[in-house]
Amino acid sequence: MPSYAYFQKQFLPLEEAKIGIMTHALHYGTAIFEGIRGNWNESRGQTYVFRLREHFERLARGCRVLQIKLPLSVDEMCNLSVELMAKCGFREDAYLRPVAYTSSQALGVRLHDLEHDFFMFVIPWGPYLDVDKARCCVSSWHRPEDNAIPPQIKANGIYINNALAKTEAQKAGYDEAIMLSPDGHISEGSGENIFLVMDGKLVTPAVNNNILMGITRNTVIELAEKELGLETVQRAIDRSELYVADECFLTGTAAHVTPVSEIDDRKVGDGEIGEITAKLQELYTRVIRGEHPDYMHWCTPVYDK
Ligand code: PMP
Repeated sequence: MPSYAYFQKQFLPLEEAKIGIMTHALHYGTAIFEGIRGNWNESRGQTYVFRLREHFERLARGCRVLQIKLPLSVDEMCNLSVELMAKCGFREDAYLRPVAYTSSQALGVRLHDLEHDFFMFVIPWGPYLDVDKARCCVSSWHRPEDNAIPPQIKANGIYINNALAKTEAQKAGYDEAIMLSPDGHISEGSGENIFLVMDGKLVTPAVNNNILMGITRNTVIELAEKELGLETVQRAIDRSELYVADECFLTGTAAHVTPVSEIDDRKVGDGEIGEITAKLQELYTRVIRGEHPDYMHWCTPVYDK
């Protein structure tokens, strides 16, 4: 099944969508991207795109920070996404990658007096952290400060930081890195937010702990409250708290809810998937596949029925 792209105002096979080697974004990382999942529901023969609008709203916010003029509205990008996914016709989990980028064929480090464009493509994509439970380490690489490179926007250039951390962790035999903020508090994984379970509550870094405000993070907070009656405390978390938490898990569009079994060679709890983590994982899986009637407003169907 071929992948398609939306590129320069048209749909075309992915391999035909090409950019020039002088493209500004390629040299300086001057782009904003998103990662959006289409979740395949086998019994209904349907793919549901999860929280589509929220992803494009975050993209639009990032563009404001980088002064990227988006050629399309949020609604137009949402509609084109569904059209593109339908055109690809995948009958498995798929991943949509929209990018708003500085398209000028021009050198010179700046944000102003440049042209912008938007493309996106869809590929089939299964689990991201392909493990039942992840072994993590605290990275020697810190997350940048908001006044260095704002971590709250999904700017392409900032992902050098994430890549340094991820490779360091994997080469040392771990599945994922946990990065600290410049002031030494827990920030996030290389592509996920982090949650701890402590004394029957969820605890997660707050907005000013140099994190991306994850859509999965927001989803989990809402599901925990509404479905399990669990409060989430958003606050600065010390490194040593990782070692004494009852449970820990990572959240992300690509990673879903991934339990963490070990951090810095210390078991989290008894090293097995925690009770609350398992409940949230089960709920989240149902919600994103359009199998929970109360959360269908988060699910956009791709195929006409
Ligand atoms: N933090 C980082 C650094 C990420 O790249 C991601 C993935 N987008 C997340 C957190 C999780 O965000 P979301 O749940 O919106 O995918």
